[in-house]
Amino acid sequence: MKRETKCVHSGNFIDPATKGINTPIYTSSVYKYIDSGKQSYPRYFNTPNQEAVVEKLCALESAEAGILFSSGMAAISTTFLTLLDKGDHVVLQDEIYGGTHAFIINQFDKFGIEYDFVKTNAEAVGSAIKDHTRVIYVESPTNPLLTLIDLSRVAELAKEKNILIVIDNTFASPINQNPLEIGIDVVVHSGTKYLGGHSDICCGAVLSNNNIIEKIHKTAVDFGGSLNAVTCSLLERSLKTMSLRVERQTENAMNIARFLENHPQIAQTWYPGLESHTGHAIAKKQMKGFGAMVAFELSREVDSIHFLKKLKLIKPALSLGGIESTICSPALTSHKKMPAEDREKIGVTDKVLRFSAGIEHIDDITADMAQALG
Ligand SMILES: *Cc1c(COP(=O)(O)O)cnc(C)c1O
Repeated sequence: MKRETKCVHSGNFIDPATKGINTPIYTSSVYKYIDSGKQSYPRYFNTPNQEAVVEKLCALESAEAGILFSSGMAAISTTFLTLLDKGDHVVLQDEIYGGTHAFIINQFDKFGIEYDFVKTNAEAVGSAIKDHTRVIYVESPTNPLLTLIDLSRVAELAKEKNILIVIDNTFASPINQNPLEIGIDVVVHSGTKYLGGHSDICCGAVLSNNNIIEKIHKTAVDFGGSLNAVTCSLLERSLKTMSLRVERQTENAMNIARFLENHPQIAQTWYPGLESHTGHAIAKKQMKGFGAMVAFELSREVDSIHFLKKLKLIKPALSLGGIESTICSPALTSHKKMPAEDREKIGVTDKVLRFSAGIEHIDDITADMAQALG
């Protein structure tokens, strides 16, 4: 099946009692166990609503198995604490999601896990590998400047040494990038973004092979970050339209990127689909679409707060991936705690903004940007 069809059909559970074609919402937290052959329980991650979504996500990411979590961070933290033991070492990019960065620096010392943050490129990752490195953790494209890392090159470097590679695939979504197909071992998602897609649920997922998921499942039962049936059902419904949504969002992002690149009030535009983007060649090689996030820097004459306040349709808001276009200032949000000097060194000035394309008509989005810049 093609991905559009998988979105609609994979994992659907036909209700044996009514023959309804949608997965019913099973709210039970208590299940009879005599003669059932299975002990179902929400925190065992094995109820029908959890399993229906996992099956759909496995089909979309070409994974053997997966687990759903109550947030992206629950998925990420449980994955790290499964794959790493005391004394192990992990290599990470310096441009990673702020919450993941905080988790590492707040928690790893007490577990005795060592880590190094390196520049976002495969060779830097390769040179940071030590004898006790067990995991390489990457994000591509990154937040907020959409830097790319060559995933098959990282896979090559890791395979020689038996190191597992984990990718946070949130920004690309399963529609625009399928890392398990190109040698990555584990995919994590913040389902709060493109999987949910309507800015109204919080969830996460991990996808991999049977062996790795079995291990993560054991830790997940201990930590307990499971997702409830009602949210599973909302997520399942959202996933049915994911290809339509993300394809439109990606097309809108490409058009906005071209508009911004040619606008006199814009100093710089970052979008993997632009020929001018440093990661364009890598993006063409490893992505199915260039994604729906665009970053840009306003020219010296335009004040960023003034610009954000003038927008009428595009909402200045945290988070991303919803059907409505949103925009945020990383300097005031995700990178707020970073000293201004360090922030500017990685290119995140006060004038850099991050745009998340929605599914609105491109003319309306462009007109809003144009009037706010004018
Ligand atoms: C939002 C986000 C997360 C964290 O997900 P939550 O659902 O908020 O816990 C992780 N990685 C990336 C890239 C994100 O954008």
